[in-house]
Amino acid sequence: MGYEVLLDAGAVSRCRRRVHLENDPGKREVPLAPPDPALEQRIADATAHRLGIAEQLAEASEAGDGWVTISRDLPAGERSAATERALADGVPFIWGALLPVDLAGHRRGGVDLLVRTDQGYLPVLVVRHRITDRGSGAPTTAMTDLDPAHQSPDPARKVRAQPRDQLRLVHLRKLLEVGGYAEKGRALGGVIGLDADVVVWHDLNAKTWPGGRSAVTEYNNRFADRVAVASAAATGQPALAEPSRILECRRCPWWPTCEAELTSTRDVSLVVRGEDADGLRKIGVSTVDALAALNPADEPPMSWTAGSFTDAVMLARAWLADLTLVRRVTDVVVSRGDVEVDVDMESFGESGAYMWGCLLSGADIGLEQGYRAFVTWDPLPTNDEARSFAEFWAWFTDVRERTLAAGLTFRAYCYNALAENRWLFGSVERFGDHEGIPSRAEVKSFVDSDEWVDLFLSVSEQFLCSQGKGLKVIAPAAGFGWRDPEAGGEASMGWYRDAVGMDGDVPDLTQRERLLQYNEDDVLATQALRGWMTDRAGTEVPFMGDL
Ligand code: SF4
Repeated sequence: MGYEVLLDAGAVSRCRRRVHLENDPGKREVPLAPPDPALEQRIADATAHRLGIAEQLAEASEAGDGWVTISRDLPAGERSAATERALADGVPFIWGALLPVDLAGHRRGGVDLLVRTDQGYLPVLVVRHRITDRGSGAPTTAMTDLDPAHQSPDPARKVRAQPRDQLRLVHLRKLLEVGGYAEKGRALGGVIGLDADVVVWHDLNAKTWPGGRSAVTEYNNRFADRVAVASAAATGQPALAEPSRILECRRCPWWPTCEAELTSTRDVSLVVRGEDADGLRKIGVSTVDALAALNPADEPPMSWTAGSFTDAVMLARAWLADLTLVRRVTDVVVSRGDVEVDVDMESFGESGAYMWGCLLSGADIGLEQGYRAFVTWDPLPTNDEARSFAEFWAWFTDVRERTLAAGLTFRAYCYNALAENRWLFGSVERFGDHEGIPSRAEVKSFVDSDEWVDLFLSVSEQFLCSQGKGLKVIAPAAGFGWRDPEAGGEASMGWYRDAVGMDGDVPDLTQRERLLQYNEDDVLATQALRGWMTDRAGTEVPFMGDL
């Protein structure tokens, strides 16, 4: 072939259009979206995580004997040559390997660690996400035991489905096979996750995928498809993948290109994502205008997968009318209490919840009204989080008890309870032995009660939102604005690092103030939103039946 299509492991999990764009010579000069600072931070965190693991493993491998590190700073050619030498020498552990490209197979790729067994080499990934859950049966070895022969069913962990990890392992195994280095007789790969407490071993031929497929079968199908997409793009043949808005678009560097294309064609995926957009296009409904022209009272014209067809038609009409919100109900209702608390929790990745911000309002129960935050500024993870959470729960319980004792009703509000609930239960699980931490039953009884109101659900049930349902999109409709123009979950991660001096720096106290103000604004936003829903939304927001 006169062109060179080389795909890395990520191609099989990536958007097909992205594979096309990355291989289209005509798109090399196209401006991409600016780098996402949150993504860059995650990459930096993952690098630091990998380095920490490498140190531990190298130390454990008989004082570094048989361990070779290949620097990622080397030019690709040198790194790949060093990897080949180490493989040919039969080095037991090769860290930072870059495997020789497989031109015929269209593959390239590197791997954190290659481990030699009696039968050849197998790949081990070091990732910064969770790879197990509570349960049993995950095939594991101890963290520094890299011999898969020692694996046994783990009594405390079950495998968390991470399809991308398994597909990456297959890709790497294929690259090892080309040079004749892959383990014979089985297809095995290991993963060390965020907790870095065990190695999980995956049998890549196990038929654990939907439809009785294995990771290898799934990979083969996907890879053949991506090679076809990339080859068509590289040779100027008709594209095999067109843009269509999906979740991945939010963080994709190609979004400016795809957005311009989708907007110019008024593509139906601007209001209906994923499979439903594909289904609509197949029956000739490929624009927002065509969708808006359908009768929302009819049965869906094809099998519908997400949300309701009626909503989709209404969203299309809202999009055409340039409306952020449309009312689905004649009367907007929010559960209200005599005493009300708006709650917003701030977490840092998987490390913990460092702040519980609360805004007390309503009837006087002898406690100071307004905003307060229960917070730990010790860098997470820290046991001081238990102290801060216990103080939050004690205050919160006091408010509830005083309210009930006064014969009044209590309501607490959050925006998307999934996040708050995750850390309410997570705090109980992690700090159950500490003083002041409630029981799981106590938290469950509150979370399941009418006292806990998720405004995200109220918004979802009563409005159609053409620009998304995030608080930062919805609260401005209620007239609320954040004091900090950069306020946002992603930005707050960087502020938090500085606020606690996470990388060994001096803690930046101004960033603590910034986080407190941001958290206070979030609870003020939910307060403003529920007030607006109670008083004004019913008249200010157009009703979908009138569109
Ligand atoms: S912006 Fe969306 S459609 Fe375009 S390449 Fe990226 S993920 Fe694919």
